Amino acid sequence: MPALSENSMDELKNLIANFEKEDYFEKVNLHIHSNCSDGVLSSHEIIKKAQKINLEHISITDHNSLEAYDSIDLDKIEDINVIAGIEFDCWHKTDFMHILGYGFDLNDKNLRKLCAKDKRETRLDIVRIFSQKKSPEVIKTIRDAGGISVLAHPACCWSLNLEKMVEELISYGLDGIELYYPYVRHRKIVKFHSIKKIAEIAEKNNLLITGGTDCHSEKLDAI
Ligand SMILES: [Zn+2]
Ligand SMILES: [Zn+2]
Repeated sequence: MPALSENSMDELKNLIANFEKEDYFEKVNLHIHSNCSDGVLSSHEIIKKAQKINLEHISITDHNSLEAYDSIDLDKIEDINVIAGIEFDCWHKTDFMHILGYGFDLNDKNLRKLCAKDKRETRLDIVRIFSQKKSPEVIKTIRDAGGISVLAHPACCWSLNLEKMVEELISYGLDGIELYYPYVRHRKIVKFHSIKKIAEIAEKNNLLITGGTDCHSEKLDAI
């Protein structure tokens, strides 16, 4: 399988656009936390486990951290496509949100500057909610680093008008929205919006649709 890290942003967009709903969780998991943030497995263990359960495309998306990628060489991994990823905390006006980045240059200096300075910023919700990052800056930095940005678990956004909020993010360059993820008990966070609503917003705005289990445990395929 060719290393995706060398492909362009358009190739990544095409790859993601071609994933079907059924592919998520069976073959594709684009939202996994390692022990470099608040997950339990190392990046090596995640890749081994993903290969064992026949996942074909994965991304390790730690909170504000690229540390998981410091111990692996994406170009040398065989039998599975590992897409560079991250999950940034940020604020959009009065809304706190998580924005996923994919397929960027792992050595991009500005992206690295946005990463956590301290372990607590990768692990503790109570620290992370005081993030100084703003949505336009996060989206622009991901794009300038050659990557695409995706609004994570949108049903958790407390915005009263999700559609308007998403349209504002699109005006900053947002490429996609996470649609396939565990809604039912997503980290015990209250849901403010339905999957149907999110699917409608994605379609209307021609957004890329992504998905992943947002796994923090040893079970990569647990929904
Ligand atoms: Zn999140
Ligand atoms: Zn997450």
